[in-house]
Amino acid sequence: MALRHIITLPDPKLRLVSKPIERIDERLRKLMDDMIETMHEAPGVGLAAIQIAEPIRLLVVDVARKEEPPQPQVFVNPEILWSSDERSTYEEGCLSIPEYYAEVERPASVRVRGLDREGQALEVLAEGLLATVLQHEIDHLDGVLFIDHISKLKRDRVIKKFQKAAKRSGEGSHVL
Ligand SMILES: [Zn+2]
Repeated sequence: MALRHIITLPDPKLRLVSKPIERIDERLRKLMDDMIETMHEAPGVGLAAIQIAEPIRLLVVDVARKEEPPQPQVFVNPEILWSSDERSTYEEGCLSIPEYYAEVERPASVRVRGLDREGQALEVLAEGLLATVLQHEIDHLDGVLFIDHISKLKRDRVIKKFQKAAKRSGEGSHVL
């Protein structure tokens, strides 16, 4: 397993629409393992493949509490089949928008379908934190960020802040 570099705003790749996965093979399973390790190390509760610059429809989540053993789950080609009318608000953050948090309102529960690590069909009825994380990560696969769900004023402010920081760190250079 290997840690992968997480891309951050204003990297334009975060706006790509990721492609469906056609084959679940050893190479893909290696990527899943890398994503789980990268998510745990960050630490985060979810990671979409595009956040490590892979534009494919793959995400990993782990909403286990700190005192519980890790419970990573993999979703290949996830789709939201149903969303509740009931909504809930969580303070969200994103590994690709470090140190920024904002309250986002989303459907409180969702039914999500996808494939697991072995390519078996997977369907979950998620509520609470898992529902929020799955919606946040599935948004990533469509190039949508959680800041797209807040006011334009706040969004513009955070985007500008990250653009300035990127400029300061120098054209063409990378944070190592
Ligand atoms: Zn995110």
